[in-house]
Amino acid sequence: MRQVPAANWAESFHYSFRDCVYPSSVEDVCDIVARSQTIKALGSRHSFNAIADGQVAMSLAEMPTKPVIERDGTQVSVGGHCTYGELALFLHDHRLAVHNLASLPHISIAGAIATATHGSGNLNGNLATAVSGLEFVAGDGSLVTVKRGDADFAGMVVHLGALGIVTRVTLDVQPEFQVAQCVYDGLDWDKLVENLDEITGAAYSVSVFTQWGDQAGSIWLKRAGAGDDWPTAIHGAVRAQVKRHPISGLDAQNATDQLGEYGRWSDRLPHFKMGFLPSSGEEIQSEYHVPKEYGAAAVEALLSVRNRFAHLVQAGEIRTVAADQLWLSPQYQRDTVSFHFTWVRDQDAVNAAVRHIEDVLAPLQALPHWGKVFTRSHIGASYERLADFARIRNGMDPERKFSNLWLEDVVFGSAGA
Ligand SMILES: Cc1cc2nc3c(=O)[nH]c(=O)nc-3n(C[C@H](O)[C@H](O)[C@H](O)COP(=O)(O)OP(=O)(O)OC[C@H]3O[C@@H](n4cnc5c(N)ncnc54)[C@H](O)[C@@H]3O)c2cc1C
Repeated sequence: MRQVPAANWAESFHYSFRDCVYPSSVEDVCDIVARSQTIKALGSRHSFNAIADGQVAMSLAEMPTKPVIERDGTQVSVGGHCTYGELALFLHDHRLAVHNLASLPHISIAGAIATATHGSGNLNGNLATAVSGLEFVAGDGSLVTVKRGDADFAGMVVHLGALGIVTRVTLDVQPEFQVAQCVYDGLDWDKLVENLDEITGAAYSVSVFTQWGDQAGSIWLKRAGAGDDWPTAIHGAVRAQVKRHPISGLDAQNATDQLGEYGRWSDRLPHFKMGFLPSSGEEIQSEYHVPKEYGAAAVEALLSVRNRFAHLVQAGEIRTVAADQLWLSPQYQRDTVSFHFTWVRDQDAVNAAVRHIEDVLAPLQALPHWGKVFTRSHIGASYERLADFARIRNGMDPERKFSNLWLEDVVFGSAGA
């Protein structure tokens, strides 16, 4: 009897799956999809809401990932279920890199791009922006390939699991680079609000970690390539002399190396090391993206209601993500400042807290992370190209084999008809 996944990675969301299929080849995937009435691809199960829920799951875990360097070393193609951590090991052998990573390398590529997963950096697009080609198995079991430049490509990358099973992804790669990170403790809220642009622009990738307490918290700078000496202080925050975990009190051993020492891009861009527990494990996450020009206003808006949510925060993180052209990306034609919350694992309390956050961020054009917890319905209506995305879905999945309640309620609404 094959294992049927019961819950997401954090065990905060319980799936409704009654069966799970494990194809061993793309031909198997085509055959299974053609014969199925309903099927939902599961990635590494790192989402926090019902986006990946369904009746019958499909795990690609038994398929080979077969990474291949393409186009004179400027692209790599790989099975969609490959994790970024596994891909990084392959890229190291070829002295190549992807432009950025999320906080953890444990997530699958197909699942990450489905939800516009991102890292940080004023000039870094989310991880989906590195996609230059995709192979899907559509609802009739046929293979659909699409590449950058094709008419609907920009609508198919942030796919929300709605268009088919992603069997292969092609990503842009670049020569490998070295990254070093340093943490600066003791940042005050007024310094953050006054200098938000300067702080988020202070390195290749920047995160501000906060408990939403009396002080803002710490700045994490990740530099790509050599730089000047690290300053001893930034806007009053002082360079840490010992290694930190993003969640205060947890073992820094699980976090990537700090203290300014250079190492491989893949060993510093994420906060958490491959092979170690990322984050706390017992948690729920939410995240809201606001246009960059509203970043300081969003900090102030959140401070005005922090007494409603701060007691539930294990870690808050403020990052930036560059604008892109991907239709269902929260960064579609806008640079964002993104406010992430790692909550304690208490769903009712988190839902109540999140409502306060949504109320104060709504006037600032906030959009939630597709893979995390939020309470607003029909988010899809906020996306200018939703009708075009629905048209692509109608073509690839006319029988709604890949749909679920979450997609119809949160994304399509009346556009799904
Ligand atoms: C500890 C932790 C840290 C995180 N850090 C970050 C971060 O730094 N930045 C950020 O933006 N997000 C972050 N996330 C959120 C996470 O990146 C997203 O939820 C992402 O979508 C998870 O990918 P997954 O493979 O686990 O997808 P799943 O949760 O398994 O699935 C998500 C969606 O992708 C679809 N999908 C998965 N595989 C396929 C496939 N092969 N074909 C078609 N559809 C597929 C599913 O059907 C579903 O719709 C974090 C999550 C955790 C638990």
